[in-house]
Amino acid sequence: MKMLRSVKGMHDIVDDEIAGWHKVEDAYRQHVERYGYREVRTPVLEPLELFVRGIGEATDIVEKEMYSFEDKGGDFLALRPEGTASAIRAYVQHSIAAKEGQTKWYYIAPMFRRERPAKGRYRQFHQAGAELIGVAEPTADAEIIDMAVSYMSHLGLKGIGVKLNTLGGPESRGRFREALVSFFQGRSDRLCTDCQRRLSTNPLRILDCKAPTCIEVAQGAPGGHELLSQDDRTHFDSLRRLLDRWGTPYEVAPSMVRGLDYYTRTIFEVQVDSEALGTKGAILGGGRYDNLVAELGGKPTPTIGYAFGIERLLLVLGEAAVPPQTHLIFVTGVGDGGAQRAFDVARSLRGNGLRAEVAYVEGSLRSQLKRADKFGATFVVIAGAEEAARGCVMLRDMSTGEQEEVSMDGLAARLRESQ
Ligand code: AMP
Repeated sequence: MKMLRSVKGMHDIVDDEIAGWHKVEDAYRQHVERYGYREVRTPVLEPLELFVRGIGEATDIVEKEMYSFEDKGGDFLALRPEGTASAIRAYVQHSIAAKEGQTKWYYIAPMFRRERPAKGRYRQFHQAGAELIGVAEPTADAEIIDMAVSYMSHLGLKGIGVKLNTLGGPESRGRFREALVSFFQGRSDRLCTDCQRRLSTNPLRILDCKAPTCIEVAQGAPGGHELLSQDDRTHFDSLRRLLDRWGTPYEVAPSMVRGLDYYTRTIFEVQVDSEALGTKGAILGGGRYDNLVAELGGKPTPTIGYAFGIERLLLVLGEAAVPPQTHLIFVTGVGDGGAQRAFDVARSLRGNGLRAEVAYVEGSLRSQLKRADKFGATFVVIAGAEEAARGCVMLRDMSTGEQEEVSMDGLAARLRESQ
């Protein structure tokens, strides 16, 4: 029969790979929970309209990359391409604003975008993110950026840099948009066809285009910073002052716009110097989206958040993502009733918080030792009838081959000692 494979760009996580996932996920939960964030879980499928309204119709994600379809009941659905729109939908749907003045949510979840698969770019990938809903102050922006950066440096990531920009609020953004339209209109023949269309739908996105001619044309484009309102400028300056104070590494990138429509004021990316990611090196993106709650049916509520790709983080971490292994103890029984004794001993070790493996099939001691070696066991406990009568087992250190008799009562403590 023909073997079936996973969908292109979507991967199984098998063998030892999972250890790195557990490490970064566990560390993330611990880290953000210290800042008061609680986990939110939302469905993988959402109404298509959520992303059209939330992310913006004229974005690459919605126009080209979304897995959307009509289900058998005639509803238009989409596999979520990112987590923020879903989190905000849930926030509005469950009237969270009526229960608390500020909300801190985090998530770790699979996302789906039909992009061209490459190293570090997949069609199903996983993001961990955070949303701080209900705080307009620049302290929120600074704290969330610092939270993301300190998480990554705790994991041992080197060469972390934040690219920071402000798009301004709706007023400043409107002025920026107009300035861009009048600049690009006279040069539209040199823009790619996508950007010619973006000129009327979403001119900011022209600054984000990767086509060489568009990059060249955009070099002379007006910057948004000169058009900022006083309030927007003050917000950005306060944010920068806080980051300076904490020594958070950042650089202002006036031409950065980011791919989603909902951003207002602060936007940021975390980049790392890494051969594993190639030249681009972005692993995290985020920003403020003060209009999104209202856009999705709630009251206007300032919000800031980010998401990073777990696959990309693991690629960059490489070996550093592999947590140190705790001992694996292989238990085997010899002689009459050996199999049962082995299970008794393994149960007791596990009950004491140790990792223990048992052979399900019987065999000679020699073959069991071979099996233990294959499992990567550091110790083998041999539960023989004679020793059992004295309340003891034999303990074999697999690295030296040495054996010693240990009382059952002291076994767990003896093994923990050598962890
Ligand atoms: P975005 O939601 O586009 O701002 O992306 C935030 C982060 O998610 C990126 O910096 C990547 O780490 C990750 N990411 C986005 N798209 C993909 C993808 N197709 N494959 C793997 N990771 C991705």
